[in-house]
Amino acid sequence: MVTRLLLLGSTGSIGRQCLDVVRAHPDQFTIVGLATNTNHRILWDQTLEFHPRWIAVADENAAREFPRDRLPEGTGFLSGPESLTEITRAAEADVAVIATVGAVGFKPTFAAAARGLRIALANKEVLAMAGGLLMQTARTRGVPIIPIDSEHSAVLQCLQCGRPEEVERIILTASGGPFRGKKPAEFENVSIQEALNHPTWSMGAKITIDSATLFNKGLEVIEAHHLFDVPLDRIDVIVHPQSVIHSMVEFRDGSIMAQLGDADMRTPIQYALSYPCRISRSGRKLNLLDISQLTFYPPDLESFPCLAIAYEAARVGGTMPAYMSVANEELVDAYLHDQICFGAIPRYLEESLSHHHVVQSYTLNDIYEVDRESRRVTREIISRARVKP
Ligand code: MG
Repeated sequence: MVTRLLLLGSTGSIGRQCLDVVRAHPDQFTIVGLATNTNHRILWDQTLEFHPRWIAVADENAAREFPRDRLPEGTGFLSGPESLTEITRAAEADVAVIATVGAVGFKPTFAAAARGLRIALANKEVLAMAGGLLMQTARTRGVPIIPIDSEHSAVLQCLQCGRPEEVERIILTASGGPFRGKKPAEFENVSIQEALNHPTWSMGAKITIDSATLFNKGLEVIEAHHLFDVPLDRIDVIVHPQSVIHSMVEFRDGSIMAQLGDADMRTPIQYALSYPCRISRSGRKLNLLDISQLTFYPPDLESFPCLAIAYEAARVGGTMPAYMSVANEELVDAYLHDQICFGAIPRYLEESLSHHHVVQSYTLNDIYEVDRESRRVTREIISRARVKP
């Protein structure tokens, strides 16, 4: 049977690679909905290629540029900030692939869970911001949430080797990013180009900066905690510069299971779409003889405080991880727009977090409120920093 996919964030890095998987397996997957925020030109090409029933452009300006009157007959067009949620409610899909970045994926993910769609989730902020609530909603609705992130895909695959109660710990691997082994003074003022130069993975801008600060690994710890229901003190991070082992699970008999593969996102994307089955490869093949060695180091929490900040926010729990995720989103955006230096990201993150009054038992509306509060406070910190000489 052909699996019908709704793909939110189809023009981004994960979205385009997801379409590669669909191209490689036209007998397995079909596209019923595509959505982008601003990239309407790529969406137009994708629409002509995949003939989805629905498309959506979230950004109003981009939507005005989109030649909607030239759309093929039978293609529904949605636009505006709510359109990602509307398309999630409208599309007749089996799987919602959430490949958006940042807080924008939040509402559509809950809309997909409410509809009982299976969710292939790449938008890590959703799990980090409201993982407890999302997993609870998903469990109530009987909706499986399958991670697309390479680390969590690896963990999910390793978990197939034992029962939940036999799991001793999860070991998430981190490449260490472009500044691994360097001291803070050496990367305080690095250019955007240097920070975007990831040693092993090719990804979108926001996540690449998050990998350079190790904030990304902090989000992944929180994601793993919610996805696999494992306590935070049993989730470790280990730096593994080759990015060949994508993560591991240690079982109580001392056996460690690892998933290895080329650093090609099409492999975890494909697994999320075909889970629990495996279909033929659409990504690059890993040749073990090409790898001379696999090395491991402890993470340097002093030089990369974002990872420690994320662990602490996760321990505090409640609305704190959501607040932190949004504050970081604002700071990375400010860095990418040359408003703050790279080294300021963890400092301003800590400053912003110190202003938040945590709500332990939260609702969706609390999260939206925390989102607004975090953006406002963090932007104030950024603009105060900019007027300093
Ligand atoms: Mg990852």
